[in-house]
Amino acid sequence: MQAKVDKETCIGCGLCPSICPECFEMDDDGKAKTIKSEVPEGAQSEAKEAESGCPVSAIIVE
Ligand code: SF4
Repeated sequence: MQAKVDKETCIGCGLCPSICPECFEMDDDGKAKTIKSEVPEGAQSEAKEAESGCPVSAIIVE
């Protein structure tokens, strides 16, 4: 399972790292980024939750 953040779309709300800190962190530019593109075992449901919770649909987890 891979996670991606579209930085053009991200508004830097901070939700995704709070839901899934194993996958996402805030970058120096104030936008979210993936810590690594492969979602770790055990964090997959949180990654999907972050995807559906992102207010601007900037996250793709597949
Ligand atoms: S939830 Fe969406 S808008 Fe908020 S920081 Fe994460 S990617 Fe950006």
